[in-house]
Amino acid sequence: MGVAARTVLFDLDGTIYLSGVLYPGVVELIDKLNASGLQFGFLTNNSTVGPESYARRLRALGLDVGRRHILTSAEATCLMLHELGLGPDLYIVGTRAFRRYLAGRGFRHSYDDAQAVLVGFDTELTYRKLTEATRLLLERNLPLVASHPDPVCPGPLPDAGMLLAYFQAADPRVAVKAVAGKPHRWIMELVRQRFACAPEEVIMVGDRQNTDVRFAHAFGMRSILVLNGGSPPAPHTQPWPDAIAPAIGQLIDAYWPPSLGWT
Ligand SMILES: [Mg+2]
Repeated sequence: MGVAARTVLFDLDGTIYLSGVLYPGVVELIDKLNASGLQFGFLTNNSTVGPESYARRLRALGLDVGRRHILTSAEATCLMLHELGLGPDLYIVGTRAFRRYLAGRGFRHSYDDAQAVLVGFDTELTYRKLTEATRLLLERNLPLVASHPDPVCPGPLPDAGMLLAYFQAADPRVAVKAVAGKPHRWIMELVRQRFACAPEEVIMVGDRQNTDVRFAHAFGMRSILVLNGGSPPAPHTQPWPDAIAPAIGQLIDAYWPPSLGWT
């Protein structure tokens, strides 16, 4: 491969940790990345908490990371809203932490003045929120947007994608206008802004062919699929990753980007 790898992006759930427990070798891998001069970041579609909380969470697990290493769908949502000209008033179906994060970026939660219904991963969902959002979509025909598309969060827990399907079941007129997180372009825009590199200089590391590898493929990034105990993908299934590592810890040696010749 001709282009040097400058940035390594990691999915979190199922890639770096599972149920809050790091996979073996992750602390050493991050130390090696910090020493190497390669840029790296963690990409998450989870919009229940803001990026600062994620940085704290990863540091508590022993990873030497800062705020600049975290890229969340909540941040991508702000880029999306600005580009679409939606807000500052929004009806937000999301957690208090998600609303607080958005408020810090100039977006207000409002029923009366809402210009769009924004759906996140709402672990504090109530019937009242469902009712108010339904009224705004059906009576005021507001656009429906979301922080990310995942129907189910590992657990399994009902996630934003299930809510999008729920609202769309109300009436054929209800359509999803835009979604910010993986595999959509706004989170890629966040990557470009944060790391100032071209897609071909980025390696995406994840545990799901259908989301992580697909995301990499859609934007011209290279990809490493990590199995972490799972089965390899069925032969000839697309998109095929550029490398398949049996475990995330192996990125420190056999699957270290320079070892793969990606320098
Ligand atoms: Mg994952």
